[in-house]
Amino acid sequence: MTRKKIVAGNWKMNGSLETNERLLDGVLAEIESENALVIVAPPFTYLSQVSGLVKGTGVSLAAQNASQYLSGAYTGETSLTMLKDLSVEYVLVGHSERRTYYGETDHVVAEKTKAILESGLTPILCIGESLEERQAEQTLVVCANQINAVLNEIGVSSFAKVVVAYEPVWAIGTGLSATAQQAQDVHEFVRKHIATQNAEIAEKVQILYGGSVKANNSEELFSMPDIDGALVGGASLIVEEFVGIIKSAG
Ligand code: PEP
Repeated sequence: MTRKKIVAGNWKMNGSLETNERLLDGVLAEIESENALVIVAPPFTYLSQVSGLVKGTGVSLAAQNASQYLSGAYTGETSLTMLKDLSVEYVLVGHSERRTYYGETDHVVAEKTKAILESGLTPILCIGESLEERQAEQTLVVCANQINAVLNEIGVSSFAKVVVAYEPVWAIGTGLSATAQQAQDVHEFVRKHIATQNAEIAEKVQILYGGSVKANNSEELFSMPDIDGALVGGASLIVEEFVGIIKSAG
């Protein structure tokens, strides 16, 4: 089956009113007739600005995080209802930086994924192994456990609405991308793992690769049968790089 490619830019804690506008102007001027679904995930403070800038362009808006709680005494948190007010459609969940620096466990990630789905938004569920885990040949076990935590919380039928992003931690922001074959092997495993519960849903799930994707390695990555696009960090902040990646998605 053909799955639509997705190219999502995770801006992390970068940007300003001025640079966001310049970046988006540059990207939007170059990507009118591309086939891939393009998503940008700015910091919370700029969601409102970027929501206005991408309106009517076909580019979708993502948040980098969200609370699993609906509302109330959660200082510093942002609810899914608030994100919907700003036309956010996607939410990153389980990014390795959230897992590592903010202690988000598989359980929290599963709760957040459930809350995102219940709010009608689409989770982009990040999974991936550390360097030590890869060296210990635990990559597939780690990815299976991270997927299982979510599957157990939401059930396989809801998993049809989840976008998965395989991001080996050792490749994020390091310039060390997984090879296309290394990525394909994990993507194929993840799809087969979901298929053990429901083969039809497994075929539909879009699995993105993330980890030092650039315009010069995206085409090869996208040529792999189970790689359905990319979650892009650093290169999503550079017009030529992000546009190049989007164009290589067909
Ligand atoms: C990311 O943060 O999701 C990411 C993949 O970053 P980078 O592309 O910079 O490695």
